[in-house]
Amino acid sequence: MSHVSSFLRRQQRLQRETPPLPRALNEECGVFGIINHDGPASQKVAMGLHALQHRGQEGAGITTYYEGEFHQAKELGLVADNFTEQSVFDNLPGTAGIGHTRYSTAGGGGAKNLQPLYADLETGGIALAHNGNLTNNRVLRRRLINRGAIFHTTSDSELFIQLTALSRGLNMSEKIIDAAREVEGAFALVVLTRDAMYGVRDAVGIRPLVLGKLGDSYVLASESCAFDLIGAEVVRDVEPGEMVICGRDGSLVSRRWAAERLARPCIFELIYFARPNSFVDGESVYEIRKRLGRTMAEESHVEADLISPIPDSGVPSAIGYAQASGVPYEMALIRSHFVGRTFIEPSQQMREMKVQRKHSANIGVVKGKRVVLVDDSLVRGTTSRKIISMLRDAGAKEVHIRVACPPIRFPDFYGIDTPSKEELLAHDRDVEDMRQLIGADTLSFLSLDGLYQALGKGKRDQTQPAFTDHCFTGDYPTANPDHDDRDNVVQQLSLLREAR
Ligand code: AMP
Repeated sequence: MSHVSSFLRRQQRLQRETPPLPRALNEECGVFGIINHDGPASQKVAMGLHALQHRGQEGAGITTYYEGEFHQAKELGLVADNFTEQSVFDNLPGTAGIGHTRYSTAGGGGAKNLQPLYADLETGGIALAHNGNLTNNRVLRRRLINRGAIFHTTSDSELFIQLTALSRGLNMSEKIIDAAREVEGAFALVVLTRDAMYGVRDAVGIRPLVLGKLGDSYVLASESCAFDLIGAEVVRDVEPGEMVICGRDGSLVSRRWAAERLARPCIFELIYFARPNSFVDGESVYEIRKRLGRTMAEESHVEADLISPIPDSGVPSAIGYAQASGVPYEMALIRSHFVGRTFIEPSQQMREMKVQRKHSANIGVVKGKRVVLVDDSLVRGTTSRKIISMLRDAGAKEVHIRVACPPIRFPDFYGIDTPSKEELLAHDRDVEDMRQLIGADTLSFLSLDGLYQALGKGKRDQTQPAFTDHCFTGDYPTANPDHDDRDNVVQQLSLLREAR
């Protein structure tokens, strides 16, 4: 009994000392940077961010450096609405600049969490843009607050600033490396100081970061599509566990900050997040997604009159499916481009209403037809359930759903922002249960081996998988103390209750 009460006392103390974990950390975002440019950097950063807009639509920011001063503009809203006027660029002088576009989530912290973050450190100013989520944010934040640190945001990204400030490293790269070694989880960082731009990728490379060149300038971006818009060329991916240091004099230095490990980039970037015109590891994302569709047609084809995507994310896989099956590709749904993302709406009712406003059945195409609908992923099932009933109302004879990835059974902690496991349709359901719930005639998912094969990796290696694929397998590539903490507490409390 005394053991139980001391455990509970410890838990109560822990709860008092633990700042509430903010609902929205730094979710999936886009980062960009350029240095040693022969014109104003801010315009190039704005163009790069515009190309990365799909990675975050809540708000964006740009920081530049000019003659000893950092200049910054951060705004809620879209890049094109805030970063196109000459007057904005006039306030962002300099030939070096970085930028960030932030993902919107319910209760996402608003303006104060917009990036780049900036701080004046002993060694000079530092501006930082982060994509990814850290998984020891709570633990580290609690430790730093207890030591007197004052946080200005609820974003986990601020840890990098605080840890860099506290580091005893001799120069800025040592300090940033110290910070990178303390955190767990996913990060692709672009950092600007008075002397250099740094690109840093987490030890297994969960989030992407690409190095490019524009004339004599080095550029960094989450995805290569940002280079196309400014006419830059891809040099290579920043390696997992690598820091690149792009100097103001046009130099490039590479440092390893983490021991070499097997790279495990996030598989969901290829399935959903990346823009189809980006290249990952030299391969077109569009072609990769077509291969997912082709593999699905081989694994689970069904007799049908037409193949249609759920626009826009299902388009390349539906094309691949149609080409492999020989069944005509048609648009069973017409998408309104005036409705944003449905996925991030806070309530189920809002999500359903938004799906309804976003998609309309193309009656002339679907009436009396057997339709195969292809989507990239099925998360809560909101989209497919609504769309199936819409197509049936429009007279479709059969509606078959084909999903270009396996069932998502486990939550994500690294920035993809899938919901808690209870909300995931596939969490504790088999395919037949899911089929009934969404109301499809048939439902099939791409198999895990089919996915790996389509990605050119052969079968999934169980001991050394080539990707971060925990959403399908539960195999997380990093320690997750923030999340383990909670599970452990719940588990230990129930064990203690049983012991009583
Ligand atoms: P759901 O309606 O909950 O089944 O979500 C599936 C739809 O949301 C698919 O059409 C995906 O394209 C899209 N989606 C999947 N993952 C995400 C994500 N992390 N953020 C935003 N949209 C997503």
